[in-house]
Amino acid sequence: MSLFTEAFFIFKKGRRVFRDLPPFSNRGSSDDPPKGGIMIIFVAVELKELFKKKRNYPWPRPKNCPRCNDYKVWGHGYAQAIFDGYNEPLLLKLYRCPVCGCVVRLRPAGYFKRFQAEVKTICSGISHKEEHNKWLSGISRTRQRHWFRALRRRVKACLGDTWTQGLLKAFDHFMAQGQVPVTRSI
Ligand SMILES: [Zn+2]
Repeated sequence: MSLFTEAFFIFKKGRRVFRDLPPFSNRGSSDDPPKGGIMIIFVAVELKELFKKKRNYPWPRPKNCPRCNDYKVWGHGYAQAIFDGYNEPLLLKLYRCPVCGCVVRLRPAGYFKRFQAEVKTICSGISHKEEHNKWLSGISRTRQRHWFRALRRRVKACLGDTWTQGLLKAFDHFMAQGQVPVTRSI
């Protein structure tokens, strides 16, 4: 798996499944940010190391600008983001392309953007509820309910009432399409 492939993994019956999504350039043009927009690249990140080293964490540097392919992107500071298990925001590295003005934000693989729980945790919560009609212990019920309802709503809106393959399959389906299965915006 290349460092700069958008990569997600989920747990399926206890087995970790890697999923490589097509690179940005192969996707619809609607994903291209406007000039000066933000591009998110998912990379392998050791969150514990990041927590310890903060600005000294050895982030990889994209070889090219993912938007215009120019040969160089420059460091552009950091953005704070909250992740489960850490009591203060972690610093995510930003780069900026001097040619097209695009800002590249690196995010840890295994987390959806704007979600602080790991994808595998969200997936286990939904799977547990679907199989046993109970919420997982140790994780806030409010959040699990939020994920569950958002996915159900998305299934209804995007796949219709005729979808009979269950929520986990739908979760997989949306992931494969490069979508966040549990986001409220459709
Ligand atoms: Zn560029």
